[in-house]
Amino acid sequence: MKTSKLEKSYRVDDGKHFRLKDFDPADTSNWRSKEHAAAQLQKDISRLEELQDKLYAQDRWAVLLIFQAMDAAGKDGTIKHVMSGVNPQGCQVHSFKEPSSTELQHDFLWRTTRHLPERGHIGIFNRSYYEEGLVVRVHDKLLANEHLPPDLVKKDIWEERFEDIRNFEQHMTRNGTVIRKFFLHLSRKEQKNRFLARLDEPEKNWKFSAADVHERAYWDDYQNAYEELIRATSTRHAPWYVIPADHKWFTHLAVAAAVIETLEDLKLFYPQVDAQKKKEIAAARKLLEKE
Ligand code: ATP
Ligand code: MG
Repeated sequence: MKTSKLEKSYRVDDGKHFRLKDFDPADTSNWRSKEHAAAQLQKDISRLEELQDKLYAQDRWAVLLIFQAMDAAGKDGTIKHVMSGVNPQGCQVHSFKEPSSTELQHDFLWRTTRHLPERGHIGIFNRSYYEEGLVVRVHDKLLANEHLPPDLVKKDIWEERFEDIRNFEQHMTRNGTVIRKFFLHLSRKEQKNRFLARLDEPEKNWKFSAADVHERAYWDDYQNAYEELIRATSTRHAPWYVIPADHKWFTHLAVAAAVIETLEDLKLFYPQVDAQKKKEIAAARKLLEKE
């Protein structure tokens, strides 16, 4: 089945020369219309369903998809649409909010580690340990809540954390967890439109949060933090995808294409049946046909 090959790649394998300004939040690659994209997305969702079924049957690889973004960039909607065809038994979504007091008593990877996907499963992190290099970096008073020994809180703590994340992701990769990271890249202008829609449309009022509007004041700090984070943690085995997020229909298509590409690269197959199992199948057939 043909999947939506996009002419432009949003994947960053090596962050050395990464610049956020080279990526346009309003980009739609070779796709022009929402209608065409919707038909393609349906095909992609079916393809994902097939691939996930094999992933589960084979029970060797685990897949971890990480979503990070500014507020209103559409993380929730993307997860909902792209994964809509996948068997819920083989997929877990976990959202990471502000850490609890128990979580703050541990190292920063602890709370996410407990929710890593099992083999054969797709795990989705809606926010993740990357918040450490984002919200905690932008509001560094949050660091004080982490009960770290003061001698360990040095100026290069962020570089140390990026290094720890790279090492952690390499460890996971070497053990059969495939990691792909998505930054849904929204423009400041489109965030404003979406916030206004949350105020104007009664059915969207519940999504409005005054805290989100407050956080918008730190827009530039967040963009800088994202740029440095993507530079520091894009690797060939755990790349970031910088996905344009101003058009939701395109965000869904681009994420679906990336997840399909990831699963296809694994060359998944249904487990082979050995001679003993073939005998059992033949015997069971005989038994049933005799009835
Ligand atoms: P939605 O608003 O769609 O429900 P959300 O992911 O924005 O989803 P919220 O409860 O609004 O959920 O926000 C979660 C908050 O938790 C964010 O402001 C995020 O920055 C914060 N957070 C996540 N991880 C950490 C962390 N390690 N330290 C401090 N704050 C964190
Ligand atoms: Mg929120």
